[in-house]
Amino acid sequence: MAKLTSLKSGLQTQPSRLANINPDSWRAGKQTAAQRGYGYKWQKARVGWLEQHPLCVYCERNGLVTAGTIVDHIVEHRGDQALFWARSNWQTLCQPCHDIVKKAEEVARRNEARD
Ligand SMILES: [Zn+2]
Repeated sequence: MAKLTSLKSGLQTQPSRLANINPDSWRAGKQTAAQRGYGYKWQKARVGWLEQHPLCVYCERNGLVTAGTIVDHIVEHRGDQALFWARSNWQTLCQPCHDIVKKAEEVARRNEARD
């Protein structure tokens, strides 16, 4: 519920900004998964990749054999279609590795950017 609370207080503190918003503009910023590239084509490619690369690469590095469920982009694609579809940029991760390791990498990157 933290999200709702912060959203509510944000609305209350920015009444003028809210009034100026074009009623359709929020839709433009709120893309569906398919519009961001995670559509049917991706689902199919993802399944094919996982059939060929079923094991989590992070677990594998630690000598563990874990079935991965996530096709992760090694380099963040940030909407870059070339990077998004480059299979050299894909790796299989299990959910725990994706959540823990990628989060740690993102924090490390943010810290680097700060220096
Ligand atoms: Zn793993």
